[in-house]
Amino acid sequence: MTKTLFKNISFNFLTKLISYIFAFFTVIYITRTLQPEIYGRISFVESVAAFFIMFSILGMPIYAMRTCAERQNDRKELSRVFNELFSLNILFAFTGIIALFLSVFFISGLKENSTLFIIYSLGIIFQAIGCEWLFKGLEKFRFIAVTTFLIKLISFLCILLFVRAGKDMYVYAFFAVFASYGSNLIYFFNINKYIDFSFKFTIKKEHIKAIFIFFIMACAVSVYNNLDITMLGFMTNNYETGLYTLASKGKIFLAVTGGIVWTAVLPRATEMWKAGRKADFFRLADKSITRVCLIQLFIAVICFIFAKKIILIIGGNEYLGSVTSFRILLLSLVPIGFSNILGGQILIPCGEEKKLLKAEIIGAVFNFFTNLAIIPLYSGMGAAVTTVISEIIVCVVCVRSIRRELQRDFGFVFFRRMCGIVKRDITRAKLRIEEKFIKDNAKYYCPCCNTKLSKFTQINFEKSAKRFDVNRYKNIEQDVICPYCYSLPRHRILVSYLNNHIAEIKNYKILHFAQEESIRIWMNRNNIKYVSADIKNTADIKLDIENTGLESDSVDMIICNHVLEHVNDYKKALNELKRIIKPNGKIIISFPVDCNYDNVYEDNTITDRQGRVKAFGQYDHLRIFGRNSKQMLQNFGFEVIEIKGEDYDAKIKPITAPGDYDYNVLYVLKK
Ligand SMILES: [Zn+2]
Repeated sequence: MTKTLFKNISFNFLTKLISYIFAFFTVIYITRTLQPEIYGRISFVESVAAFFIMFSILGMPIYAMRTCAERQNDRKELSRVFNELFSLNILFAFTGIIALFLSVFFISGLKENSTLFIIYSLGIIFQAIGCEWLFKGLEKFRFIAVTTFLIKLISFLCILLFVRAGKDMYVYAFFAVFASYGSNLIYFFNINKYIDFSFKFTIKKEHIKAIFIFFIMACAVSVYNNLDITMLGFMTNNYETGLYTLASKGKIFLAVTGGIVWTAVLPRATEMWKAGRKADFFRLADKSITRVCLIQLFIAVICFIFAKKIILIIGGNEYLGSVTSFRILLLSLVPIGFSNILGGQILIPCGEEKKLLKAEIIGAVFNFFTNLAIIPLYSGMGAAVTTVISEIIVCVVCVRSIRRELQRDFGFVFFRRMCGIVKRDITRAKLRIEEKFIKDNAKYYCPCCNTKLSKFTQINFEKSAKRFDVNRYKNIEQDVICPYCYSLPRHRILVSYLNNHIAEIKNYKILHFAQEESIRIWMNRNNIKYVSADIKNTADIKLDIENTGLESDSVDMIICNHVLEHVNDYKKALNELKRIIKPNGKIIISFPVDCNYDNVYEDNTITDRQGRVKAFGQYDHLRIFGRNSKQMLQNFGFEVIEIKGEDYDAKIKPITAPGDYDYNVLYVLKK
């Protein structure tokens, strides 16, 4: 995860934390200052008003955030769409306020609190003009955190100063509203920085439909969170319901990690998807899921062990009956984290929110009907079990949708990718420590991931004798892999060459076949745009190197490492590359070479794995290239320059020889 993304997540977390802390201290102060009767009155108004405030934004926050994120690099387009969304904000707010006032006027229980309601209606207005979604969509998470802190602090101080007794009820209400929604005033005066704001009331139907889906989704979540408690309330007694409420609230509080991560990552993920960076997009999702699930697992285990103590501290002795339900509910933390990311960081940025809604509805319906059957028998514990199963179902439905719609698998296969990420995280931590202590005498350096190393890692071909011809590697040094980015000598040679040409590359249209992690890391590190391609569905675009379907003379640079030995017809592939590269463009290519051969050795009668290992050195190779490869490439009409490992710094370990197999040369071809 890049540094700024990590910052976004941290600031988003901080914003949440600030809100919790101030809410906590406000409650402590205010319950001691206002009599229960007045506090109850305000709480009641607050909850009713919250309902109207929710209606007055519908599904706006997430939808508008995504819409802005999609256009974050285009100020004109952003301004246009902002105007449309802002118009809707105003329309919704206006409707919300009218609805609130009508309700207050006609419903007798509300009428007696009409002054309080007028104060709370300010929340609707603030929210409408502030447009927090714009700042989230543009990844201004630090600004949001700072603003939140300032407003909460000011409100809290004012409450301490001016709210001394029950008669200050209205003052309290005002500052409570200000604490919750006051940030919007500051947002409002900063809108002009990011867009050209000239308001013209425009209502677009396309937005309303999408916003409505997000609204139903928000409702589904809130129904879902309250379903168990409501059903227990109807089907059992107050005691059971009370116990379960504590357990359930605890679970909701503990399951925040996924939400904090995906709301902070959504703008970036949306941008990646929009730009066609599919490979990066899914890699980011892999990382988020792995880390969120690990954190949730950690929280679940700790709380499981100390469940009794936690319940004692929060609820006291009378609530000990909820320990079992609480423990069962903890089992849902990992699936919740998982589906949070699947939904918020994959389905929503891709515009597939309907699939997420479907999963949520299936989960809620399942929960409802199993609750009906199980609550009479096992009350709270039963409700906890059905909740856990429903959360798993939501996960499974999301995984299936993603596999079907986006051809990416997050089922059991994903477990291996998770292990890879964890392994790499541990390696990176180790390297960081290593770098701190042996910084200056680090013998080696990986230019791909920019890491100083005391040693490279062993490949150990001997261990995979079934896949490689071990004999060919006998005289070759095998401690050549970067422990962090898995770069091999050829990647480090390539990246060193690219480093010398970085200025020209910045404006290139680059196509990278069979993408390699080390090269991807280097490209991202240097902010170089590129497109990865593969015949399998693992890269940005899926294409066949023998027949790409791309326009002639359309690419500035092609990187094609160790692909030609795998394809059916390497001649066809080379001619295709020649066709699509621009006249001044460069093809950087490498393939395994066996110096015991003059020219290409291929034999299409050898089709079994062992035969290929023996003949060509690896189970899935269809040929091996000979020592006259430069001439072979020239015969295709290319101008050929060799990039030789021996020309580069020994620090990057560019050479694995002595040995006459795979001898660390890359070719730069021009047509
Ligand atoms: Zn590396």
